[in-house]
Amino acid sequence: MAVAPPLPQSGLDFGLSEEQEILRREVRRFAEERIRPGAAARDAERRFPAEIVSEMGALGLLGMLVDEEYGGAGFDALSYVVAVEELARVCPATAGTMSVTNSVCCWPIGHFGSEGLKRRILPELASGRVLGGFGLTEPEAGSDAGSLKTRAERAGDSWVLDGEKAWITNAGVASWFVVMARTDPGAEKGGITAFVVAADSPGLQIGSPEAKMGLRAAKTAPLLFNRCKVPAENQLGELGAGFKIALATLDHSRLGIAAQAVGIHQRALELAVAYSRERVQFGKPIAQHQAIRFKIAQMATELEAARVLTRSAAVSTTRASAGRLASQAKLFASEAANRACYESLQIHGGNGFSDEYEISKLYRDVRVTAIYEGTSEMQRWVISRQLLRD
Ligand SMILES: Cc1cc2nc3c(=O)[nH]c(=O)nc-3n(C[C@H](O)[C@H](O)[C@H](O)COP(=O)(O)OP(=O)(O)OC[C@H]3O[C@@H](n4cnc5c(N)ncnc54)[C@H](O)[C@@H]3O)c2cc1C
Repeated sequence: MAVAPPLPQSGLDFGLSEEQEILRREVRRFAEERIRPGAAARDAERRFPAEIVSEMGALGLLGMLVDEEYGGAGFDALSYVVAVEELARVCPATAGTMSVTNSVCCWPIGHFGSEGLKRRILPELASGRVLGGFGLTEPEAGSDAGSLKTRAERAGDSWVLDGEKAWITNAGVASWFVVMARTDPGAEKGGITAFVVAADSPGLQIGSPEAKMGLRAAKTAPLLFNRCKVPAENQLGELGAGFKIALATLDHSRLGIAAQAVGIHQRALELAVAYSRERVQFGKPIAQHQAIRFKIAQMATELEAARVLTRSAAVSTTRASAGRLASQAKLFASEAANRACYESLQIHGGNGFSDEYEISKLYRDVRVTAIYEGTSEMQRWVISRQLLRD
């Protein structure tokens, strides 16, 4: 199997500070030394890397976006996307486990949680001792998340949840979930409230894990609520603000999916370059055939564009256009990474279709980046809606 040599440095440093550059190098070293060995086997066996995830916790990678006063590492969004990219370059599944805990569990608790909730839950998550998840999607409510049916009814000093969440990343390995449920059936999107639900709450069951096409070393399963009791103090944000909290969370977390796509794209390019130098056809390395060179040029150019968009969105999180910028980054980076994996596999010829070659796994892993946290169609909707608003 071809071993990918390092590629020439990207033209972009996007003003990475010395601290951010050290972080990038450290995460790359950790990913190469601790995650790469065994990544293919874990994928084949659909095995969650519990030990590696707890090492990531000890390094502060699971509480990157949590303020230091709540036990987090207090990194900015640019540092976060740099770390996700480096993890995804080596193992997109492990990057997904990490980014979900950071961006759709810790982030909304940190931004919308009461002081008590933050003090009670964030230090545990930020330390990496436990993982987090996010429950928005339901079997009948995907892109149209506002039509969700999971109910929450008040009973004394608790809420009681009934319903089902589908496709929940980290279900089965997480200890806390941010869950959206309907508290007012008559109020459409304004009748949805967010809750922080413990995985061991009475009445919460984790369904059978999904048999996924990719990201097989990460866990994804349904959450089944049957008279599930949640303490009233675990309400996240205002009553009826759950849908807004979900959208704000996704506006931010899409940066992580864009970064995951950039990391996969980077690796697909590295593998294409290495293989095309090594494979000889018609008496010369295939890298010397123009059709192959042009594919590589295209992949490299789209990679730079995707990285610039992603990092530019990451340094714009306080702007009014932050949500649109994150959607644009996610849309472009995920579709470009899908094209790159397609072309890289094409360059590998029949060998690309073999599990012996890393590109075969990347080709499966990359597909979902254009689907989760909003499909490409939904990103185009979000972007155009913001631009065409009166
Ligand atoms: C591996 C994985 C992990 C996930 N993790 C989580 C998680 O942790 N938490 C969570 O809540 N969810 C999670 N999801 C769910 C994910 O966010 C949804 O799958 C996604 O939002 C799409 O919803 P859907 O699958 O129901 O597709 P649908 O909404 O049924 O869409 C089907 C197709 O129709 C298109 N479509 C729908 N409406 C329109 C429209 N108005 N105009 C044009 N086209 C449209 C879509 O773009 C898509 O192509 C995960 C999914 C996967 C695959």
